[in-house]
Amino acid sequence: MKIKVVESVFQANDAVAGENRALADKAGVLMVNLMSAPGSGKTTLLERTLVELGPKNCAVLVGDLQTVRDAERLGVSGSQVVQINTGRGCHLSAAQVAQGLSELDLTGLSYLFIENVGNMVCPASFDLGEHKRVALLSVPEGDDKVAKYWTLFQGADVILLSKIDLLGALDFDPERVRDDLSKINTHAPLLEISAKSGQGFHNWLDWLRKEHYTPTE
Ligand code: MG
Ligand code: ZN
Repeated sequence: MKIKVVESVFQANDAVAGENRALADKAGVLMVNLMSAPGSGKTTLLERTLVELGPKNCAVLVGDLQTVRDAERLGVSGSQVVQINTGRGCHLSAAQVAQGLSELDLTGLSYLFIENVGNMVCPASFDLGEHKRVALLSVPEGDDKVAKYWTLFQGADVILLSKIDLLGALDFDPERVRDDLSKINTHAPLLEISAKSGQGFHNWLDWLRKEHYTPTE
């Protein structure tokens, strides 16, 4: 019985996720779900990304338990930004994203970024209607996290090793990350970037431009 209840939660979520995806498809917007631990640099990544891609081409839904701090940071760019406060919720649900979408004007947008709640575990289990999934791992978190939190990285379409400007200062072996990834996800590229120094950032922008929404047919 208990299993049935859990299944129905995911079924209900998946149905709304499908509606979100249909909405983005109709508008020709690529929906990108960013997931990582708190402090991996999701917001800093987006600050720079919005400027580089053009603020009017992008919108952001940003999830946090509390505060509008990230929305304030991202809003500086001039992009449309909606903050979703989850209260005690440790991930975004498709229904919350649907609500956020209703606050946005998708006309003329190319990219909709969803900054998920900082959490390496359950966000990976919830389809929000995104087209692509991005997993971030920052150098200060340590090179053992891909093996430990494998579900996040297994389902990702691209993996960003962030804050690589700190590589020299910390004991972090990128080879260990590559080795762990080779066992669980061989299709997603691993991009080494620093949103602060700009190192490798063009690879992330190239990836986004390549994945730019194209109708399936
Ligand atoms: Mg953030
Ligand atoms: Zn959760």
